[in-house]
Amino acid sequence: MRALILSDIHANQIALETVLKHAAGDYDAVWCLGDVVGYGPRPNECIEILADLVSICVMGNHDWAVLGRAGIDVNDFNPHARQAVLWTRDQLRASNREWLDKLPDRPVHPGGFEHLLATHASPREPVWEYILTPTIAMENFAVFDEDVCMVGHTHKPAIYRWRLHSEPDLHDEIQTVATVDLLQLTTDAPIHLATSSQERLIVNPGSVGQPRDNDARAAYAILDMEKMIWSYRRVSYPIELTQSQMRAAGLPKRLIDRLSFGW
Ligand code: ZN
Repeated sequence: MRALILSDIHANQIALETVLKHAAGDYDAVWCLGDVVGYGPRPNECIEILADLVSICVMGNHDWAVLGRAGIDVNDFNPHARQAVLWTRDQLRASNREWLDKLPDRPVHPGGFEHLLATHASPREPVWEYILTPTIAMENFAVFDEDVCMVGHTHKPAIYRWRLHSEPDLHDEIQTVATVDLLQLTTDAPIHLATSSQERLIVNPGSVGQPRDNDARAAYAILDMEKMIWSYRRVSYPIELTQSQMRAAGLPKRLIDRLSFGW
């Protein structure tokens, strides 16, 4: 079983369709890590594509904000993100709003795989926390038991590896210590997600619709569940088409411009 892992589509229909075409034939199920809407110009279309496609999708902070749920003040968003949230709220068809409203806001086991966890932001704060450093990843490894946790939210592809080592302390006594490192990722080298009681992982596929790692191409991953191979991919899409849709919708210029640069 191979899963197509999508995250942070952010209503970028052109990027989503390009990814689906690029990955065609390489997957058996689609799992989405949230933030289907917000920022981008085609929220209804993206929900309608995903509703027919995904076997799981978790809720992201932008999905949550668009729903206007308690627990989030849209004023906590920066002015451009807020403007996009309010615009999206206005655009959303009732049936699509209902679909968003049913997304789980807690971590789930995708496909019923008990050794795998999926959440938008982090296991500790499923909708809000950014795992951007090994220190924050380390704190999060303490709050889940599964071998691998998949997250999105940062819009940056990443793999954090937690390992237990034995090493001598100052008195030459052997101690067990845990460390977390951020692995280097390349798109042409699939990674074996090796896990054991000594080794666990937090993996992030990056963002389909608004990458922030200085690479403007759409990012996604394929996870082969039998071999536990994570293939991280990038694909160019016609950014200018999404940008002209955004301009026509009157979305903020800064959000339009950033897509060209991937920040
Ligand atoms: Zn996002």
